[in-house]
Formats: sequence, structure tokens, C-alpha cells
Amino acid sequence: KKPDNHILVIFGASGDLTHRKLVPALADLHKQDLLPEKFAVLGLGRTPLTNEQFREKMSTGIQEFSSKKGDVPNGFLKRLYYYSFNTKEGAEYKGFKDYLLALDKEIGSGGNFIFYLATPPSMYPLIPRFLSEQGLSRDDKGFRRLIVEKPFGHDLASARQLNRELLNYFKEEQIYRIDHYLGKETVQNLLVTRFSNGIYEPLWNRNYIHHVEVTSTEDIGVGNRGGYYEESGALRDMVQNHLLLLTSLVAMEPPALINAESIRNEIVKVLQSLRPIPKEEVPRYVIRGQYIESEVKGQHVKGYRQEKGVDPKSRVETFVAMKFYIDNWRWAGVPFYIRTGKMLPTRVTEIVIHFQPTPHHLFADDPAIIRQQNQLVIRIQPDEGLLLKFGMKVPGAGFRVQDVNMDFHYSDLSDTYLPSAYERLLLDCMLGDPTLYSRGDAVEAAWNFIDPILQAWKEEPCIKVHGYPAGTWGPEEADELIEGDMTWRYPCKN
Ligand code: NAP
Repeated sequence: KKPDNHILVIFGASGDLTHRKLVPALADLHKQDLLPEKFAVLGLGRTPLTNEQFREKMSTGIQEFSSKKGDVPNGFLKRLYYYSFNTKEGAEYKGFKDYLLALDKEIGSGGNFIFYLATPPSMYPLIPRFLSEQGLSRDDKGFRRLIVEKPFGHDLASARQLNRELLNYFKEEQIYRIDHYLGKETVQNLLVTRFSNGIYEPLWNRNYIHHVEVTSTEDIGVGNRGGYYEESGALRDMVQNHLLLLTSLVAMEPPALINAESIRNEIVKVLQSLRPIPKEEVPRYVIRGQYIESEVKGQHVKGYRQEKGVDPKSRVETFVAMKFYIDNWRWAGVPFYIRTGKMLPTRVTEIVIHFQPTPHHLFADDPAIIRQQNQLVIRIQPDEGLLLKFGMKVPGAGFRVQDVNMDFHYSDLSDTYLPSAYERLLLDCMLGDPTLYSRGDAVEAAWNFIDPILQAWKEEPCIKVHGYPAGTWGPEEADELIEGDMTWRYPCKN
């Protein structure tokens, strides 16, 4: 089914996100004939651009970043429009509204509008207010939806405040909060793997799972986004949203139905069951690090503090590793370990389910030392797929055991097209399906868990920021989080 006719209005259309992600994703939807017949994109920004200049700029973005190769379709470019104004100024919205309604009439989009906020976050509460003052948030004459980019708040208080302000002007069912991880095919596959296979569900609990690891790393630094990163850090940028979301999908109960309400109810329950980490326990459960000036393969690599826009004494973390528990029936006593960082040896996002070892190590030379553990690795990116590690007999005399992999790669489905996260999410919003978007209570529950950590770091300057050289797996202290003779999985080694 195609979405109803509408106009997608992008606030911040002269910016990076629109150029690299949004418009290329829309072009890919166009190539698959998934956009409605009467459809336009109206880009907004202060930079003065004519429609032609905007189309030209977007055309280069499509060429570079579109997932579907081939020529930039002219039919799509003609659907792009641009209107320049200062979205901070309430007085300028009347002119914008007149332009929007005239365009709506011209193309026959039926008064349906999606407003996409891709501006600096300080404008997230302002724009809905001004839209509402112009009567553009009311959905009685067509649908009106609001997509809000990350970051959604800076801490619990600001996220609550933003939710309150948005809800003054739009209803919860009109608000689509983006966490683009949920748009990824492999993240959605987590639900299918868990709930469409009879073999996993009986094992998916404290009786058979020893611990769970969620890792998301990058092999690059902050580049020219130092200024942005100084306000954020790895805990806010990655853990509060993406990694807690992945944790929720691993840990949630089967939803009653595959619909937005049921799935999002289960996600919230997990987030509300996270055992709070008291401020005084933060150094024990959360390790933060920062990459330092180093040599990698003979190349000099800048430390975080030498990056452009970064305070030379900055204590902002570029690495976080943490251990926590989910206090509910399914997960009582099972440790969850999360790790994220920049300038690590590789770019990878994966979840590792470590099953309980066998109760007795029949085939080991020294049964007291060797622990045989099955692992299920759910690879989110790159090389998306599933890997099950299990023990096999080494052929020949005796009963020696070796670890082998049962391996599925999405790339093996060579003629299957994997849509980009933004492609999937934009289409869902156009269809009015918020399943893969975050609900306000989930965002607040995640911040509620993160807030004491941020406060401890702010109030206790003696909590260390551990330096780590680029190209390593972060500070050694992170290894000590995992108890006993276990270690993190090092994905390069497979
Ligand atoms: P950006 O490149 O700095 O673009 C910001 C946009 O906002 C520009 O189009 C700018 O247009 C517009 N803007 C700023 N002030 C304005 C004003 N007073 N009136 C009208 N327009 C105004 O930022 P971005 O990287 O695209 O990111 C946009 C948002 O998406 C941010 O909140 C960011 O956190 C989020 N995000 C970005 C990415 C990414 O990959 N880039 C990923 C996830 C989330 P003018 O300068 O022309 O006014």
C-alpha cells in the first residue's frame, strides 16, 4: 500500500542530515515507486536557495549517498521545493504557511503534512509552537505528523520538558521520535529471530543465558564534529538511545501483537526494570575513557583533546563500558554489558548472547578451568547476520573439542535489497505507523537510568576519565567489569 498524498516539510534542509540521509532515502523510495502520486518535499532553511539550486544540491547528495545506484531520477528532483526563512522567528511563519498551502493546492496533496525537525535541537520546542499558532498542527483537515531527530533532550529534566512542550501542540500519536537504529533491518530481525523460532524462546532467560554483551564501536574519531561532541559524549550520544534500545529488544517479553502499542509497551517495561546505578556505585559499574594521542601502524593519531572544537582539558568521554542488571523475572541476576567507543580497532555493532556453560566439562583436560559456552552473535553492522558458536569434535583420536561457527550473512541473499534505516522510517511515518519510533515514556525511562551516571560524573571530579590509545579496545579497566575468566568478545577475531 502506498502512503496517502502529502507534503514532507523538512526544517533544516540546507544541513548535513538532509543532504546525506533524508533526500537520498526519499530518492530510493521514489525509485521503488513507494511514494504517493501527489507528493512534494519542501525544504526549509535560512540559506537563500532557489528550487533549482536546492535540486542541484540534493542531486549531488543522491549520487553520493543513495543506496540504489543509477541515475538521479528527474521526476524525483521535480518534487523538491525550497523556501527560505528563519524558523526561530514566529512572525515569519505566516509567509511560510501561505507558501505551503499554495503548494498543497498546486500539487493536490490533500492538506496532509509531515514536519521533519532536522535543525539544531534548541529549535525542537519552538517550531511546533509556531506551527500550532498557524493552525498547522491540527489534524482535522488532513494528517499532521511531526518527526523529531535525536538528541531528544540532554538529560531527564530536559527530555521531560521537551515532551511536555511537544504535547502542548501535537498529540502523542502525531509525534514520531527517531532512533534510526530501529530502522535497521537487522535490528528488526532481532524480533523475528526471537519470536518466530521455537528453539530460542525456551532458552532466552536467566536459566540458560549467562550474560549479554552489546557492543557498538567506531574506528574513527570525532573528526570535525568536536563542538557537537563536547556537548554530548558517548553516554548521551550512543548509550541512552541506541544501546538501551538494542538491550530492550533483546530483553523484552513477546508482545501480544505486532503493532506499535504492543511492541512499545514491552520496550518500556524493560527500560523501567533497569536496576538504577546509585551515584556512589558509578565508578564500579561504569568505565569512561577518552582516546589519547597515539601512533597507529606508524601513523600519528590526534587525541580527542587535540581535535578541532574540543577543550584541551575536556573530560568528555569517547568510550563507555558498563555493567547493569534488569530486575524482572526473566533476567534476575543476569549481567548485561554495554560497550561503545570511538577510535577502536573496527566499526561494528553486535549483540552477543552468552549461554550458560555445560554443568560438567566432560571433554576438557582440566574440567575446572575450561568453560564451554555457546554464543549467539547478532551482527547489526557491518556484514549483517547471525552467528552461532558451538563445540565440535576435532576429528581423530580422543574427544578434543573446537569452537565452530554456524553462520548466516544477509549478503548471501544477493538479490535482496536492504533498505536504509531512513528509507524504512520515512515510509513508516508516511503510512502512519509509529512502531519503529520511540514513545515519550520510553525516552524518559532511558534518561531516568542514565541521569544518575551523568550527575555522578558532574559532581565527582575524582571519577577517572581513562585515556586509551587509538586502535585499542578502550581502557583496560573496562575488561575488569566482566567477572571471572570471561572477556569481551573482540569482533575482529570473529
Ligand atoms: P546542520 O548541518 O548543522 O544543519 C542544521 C540545519 O538547521 C541547517 O539546514 C540550517 O539551515 C538549519 N537552521 C539552523 N538555524 C536555523 C534557523 N534559525 N532558521 C532556519 N533554519 C535553521 O545539522 P545536521 O547535521 O543536518 O543535523 C540536524 C539535526 O539532526 C541535529 O539536531 C542533529 O543532532 C540531528 N542528527 C544529525 C545526524 C547527521 O548525520 N547529520 C544524525 C542524527 C541526528 P541554515 O543554516 O540554512 O539556516
